[in-house]
Amino acid sequence: MEILNYIDGQFAKASSGRTLNNVNPATGQVYGSIPDSGQADVESAVKAAKAAFPSWSKLTAAERSEHMMAVANGINERLDELAQAESTDNGKPLKLAQSVDIPRARDNFAFYATAILHDVSESHDMGDQGFNYTLRRPIGVAACISPWNLPLYLFTWKIAPALAAGNTVVAKPSEITPATAYLLSQILDEVNFPKGVLNIVHGTGPGVGEQLVSHPEVPIISFTGGSETGKHISRIAAPLFKKLSLELGGKNPNILFADCDFDTMLSTTMRSSFANQGQICLCGSRILVERPIYDRFVKAFVAKTKQLRVGPPDQTGVQIGAVVSQAHRDKILSYIQLAIDEGGTVECGGASPTMEGDAKGGFYVNPTIITGLNMDCRTNQEEIFGPVVTIMPFDTEQEALELANATNYGLSATVWTNNLKRAHRVASEVHAGIVWVNSWLVRDLRTPFGGVKASGVGREGGFEALRFFTEPKNVYIHLT
Ligand code: NAD
Repeated sequence: MEILNYIDGQFAKASSGRTLNNVNPATGQVYGSIPDSGQADVESAVKAAKAAFPSWSKLTAAERSEHMMAVANGINERLDELAQAESTDNGKPLKLAQSVDIPRARDNFAFYATAILHDVSESHDMGDQGFNYTLRRPIGVAACISPWNLPLYLFTWKIAPALAAGNTVVAKPSEITPATAYLLSQILDEVNFPKGVLNIVHGTGPGVGEQLVSHPEVPIISFTGGSETGKHISRIAAPLFKKLSLELGGKNPNILFADCDFDTMLSTTMRSSFANQGQICLCGSRILVERPIYDRFVKAFVAKTKQLRVGPPDQTGVQIGAVVSQAHRDKILSYIQLAIDEGGTVECGGASPTMEGDAKGGFYVNPTIITGLNMDCRTNQEEIFGPVVTIMPFDTEQEALELANATNYGLSATVWTNNLKRAHRVASEVHAGIVWVNSWLVRDLRTPFGGVKASGVGREGGFEALRFFTEPKNVYIHLT
């Protein structure tokens, strides 16, 4: 597949003519190319987005909604094709792309297309003196930069509210998983989405992302990716006074109390540990277990994990596909070695499986469980972002909280207990932006989403994202 940029409603190669290889992680084979875009392409895209801003921002909410619903319906019509493309690009089991990623991408567009129809702005009564109201105006050209782990889902998660609020967008998908963004540009073309309103530029972080972040005509940036990249972007954007939302890495704790529903907890913890090969920012990677159920949990969890089927993502029954790239597989394996060096015990997994046929050249890692580490070690402090979890026991609620909060990250947490008061206490005290009690990955699009500490600043999701993509202006009316 030859992937092209989509700028001002036109498909185009990089102006330099350069391309990057697109690799299928399930086989390790190159199966297509993407434009290796640079400054000139970003310039054209920003110019197009700037030119489209006056007309797009002046449309009524109902008109914008109609355009966006056409995109949501377009995604729905090509759901299987998108899921196939995402699975090939990313290595995730096809079923996961079909049942979660692509439907959620469609829902992102549908949610924001309808949210703008119900949005309100504030008015404050000052009695006889007068009143004031808040106007929320779109800002201009927004940069939306996304990672490879949930390619279309996270791409649309930021693009949809930016467009709904009346901004125009230059979006950059991850160069590692570009295919669904390209199919999205085909959908934009098919539904006659207004030209220049959403431009998609492919290429590397330094080549495209950084050009966008530093561009003087791009006042607002929504970024999802690694914390180090987020730091780098902040350094560029801060002196330019850009509005910035950062959704970054995680090292999420799962806190399992002895009084929980063991079987439900066990099956959900399997998913929260290994779904998408552990490459979901919301996966729990540090499992904290109350001492009375520690041995029982480790035994049952290891036994179930050994039964997981690792294999080519399009094969029926495969639960663990390929990780996204060779470099990422090597990083994950190096962290497993680090865990051993730090004194950990590998309870299962710990290596790449031997594959057959086309999958021989693919990038696979067996789901891995490590015990015997303390919380200070690098394995428990740094984001691995693969199918690797550690397990540690705790004795008291206080200790569980101290362990849970003992990293620089603060994205999400899960708490498993049937004690209502404790559930609320722990949810309130754990330092994370999202807490699931007796569940995981349940999504209500109306809620704000995001992390604290090194996991990010700003919030996406719900009406919060519509607020982010606007600038408020208070108007005071004096009646006397
Ligand atoms: P990454 O930071 O390497 O890349 C993310 C995006 O930023 C890519 O499109 C990349 O090309 C671009 N980029 C890289 N360098 C850039 C630069 N200097 N300027 C501008 N853009 C640049 O992250 P990744 O490896 O693609 O994704 C994995 C990371 O994303 C993990 O840390 C994961 O936790 C995080 N993540 C966070 C969330 C969340 O919601 N908090 C969701 C998914 C993934």
